[in-house]
Amino acid sequence: MTEKRKAVFLDKDGTLIPDVPYNVNPDLITLEDGVIEGLRLLKKDGFCFVIISNQAGVAKGYFNYHQLNQVEQKINLLLQPAGIKIEKYLFCPHHPEGKVKEYSTDCSCRKPKPGMILQAAKDLEINLEQSWMIGDILNDAEAGNRAGCKTILINNGNETEWVNGLYREPTFVAANFLEAVNFIRSNPYTFQVNDNKLAAV
Ligand SMILES: [Mg+2]
Ligand SMILES: [Zn+2]
Repeated sequence: MTEKRKAVFLDKDGTLIPDVPYNVNPDLITLEDGVIEGLRLLKKDGFCFVIISNQAGVAKGYFNYHQLNQVEQKINLLLQPAGIKIEKYLFCPHHPEGKVKEYSTDCSCRKPKPGMILQAAKDLEINLEQSWMIGDILNDAEAGNRAGCKTILINNGNETEWVNGLYREPTFVAANFLEAVNFIRSNPYTFQVNDNKLAAV
């Protein structure tokens, strides 16, 4: 039996890069503080990286799906000097109330649904129990929890609604990216946190 990989699934906007709403202009893309150092440490620990990002701007007609390529390229360019590679980018271009017909659907990939994470796990042979989802809103945590990962919310002010519910409690709340990374590195065996939570409901 081949051993599956462990991953850190990363939300893009507000987590990996500062959130500029509906932006696909590479010139406006920079990394959040601590991202290079944090990903370097996680890479050393054997994690691979996958971007999991809602891009409803496609459904809403603000930009087209191909323009997300230039976003990928810019992020790769920023990470490359540090020897960090994003294994895969998954974008959900849908929104139930979009304008562009082919993308205006209630899909199974838009977070808080776990579709993109499950797809990545299948494509890249990832062990979800050993993997983490990091995001800046509770929809990220829910997607990760539903997929069977452990989850971290970076509480940087981007979550404003704080809707509670089944699957919406992150394993850990961090103040910033590096704090999230440090938690992951110091707690490699925190499965029981999620198990207890599931058993309690
Ligand atoms: Mg975000
Ligand atoms: Zn979708």
